[in-house]
Amino acid sequence: MDTALVHYSAAAATDRGRKRPTNEDAYGFSVEHGVFVVCDGMGGAAAGEIASSLAVDEALARLKSRNLAIDPPLAAEEAVAAANHAIFSRSQRNPRLSGMGTTLVGLLAEDRRVWFLNVGDSRGYRLRDQRLEQITLDHSLVEEQVRLGRMTHAEALRSPLRNVITRALGTQTQITPDIFSLQAAPGDLFLLCTDGLTRELTDAEIQATLASNLPLEHLCAQLVHAAKKAGGSDNITCLLVRVEN
Ligand code: CA
Repeated sequence: MDTALVHYSAAAATDRGRKRPTNEDAYGFSVEHGVFVVCDGMGGAAAGEIASSLAVDEALARLKSRNLAIDPPLAAEEAVAAANHAIFSRSQRNPRLSGMGTTLVGLLAEDRRVWFLNVGDSRGYRLRDQRLEQITLDHSLVEEQVRLGRMTHAEALRSPLRNVITRALGTQTQITPDIFSLQAAPGDLFLLCTDGLTRELTDAEIQATLASNLPLEHLCAQLVHAAKKAGGSDNITCLLVRVEN
């Protein structure tokens, strides 16, 4: 039936990894409201953790209470602006938190349409018909060079500048997120994740894991396990969202 609402299910996992003393990644979601967010914080001391959790809390609260009469991309833009403001003003008030920031990759689902929102180098993927496709574009120095044809993907992975991101939440008064929508089809599986997953595993490895069709909690656990086994040099976070019908 075309009139039936599309249902989503979700699961997530986060792990400190094997090298980092703390976990600066954060995630949050509400299946009921169709809102899913993953953030990867940066900054000295505990600043990265504060930035990522502030961004998740603020974006989630805004999107959950969004006015449904407002266009989803506008609601998403407002939520990202609010998260940006929350982090920026906190760092202005506390010099020890100066310069903290975070990535944000999110998904807003309304019936058959999903909106991706992205700032930084965390990623959104879609698995459809067993094929994994990266949906978001990294806002990173090396990936922008790759897109311009000035660097190969292999060079980007090895570059000493690979950690430099060109957009982050909380470091400036204004931020422009990428926001775009896709039509969701039953069986689609969306993955939101931090670079602690995508630096350790190739897209082919992620695809092979996701194609196994296990419960979402198991898939999350398998991805984290595989990333740790491959080195676990950074915090690892994955959030899976499945379009049920
Ligand atoms: Ca990271």
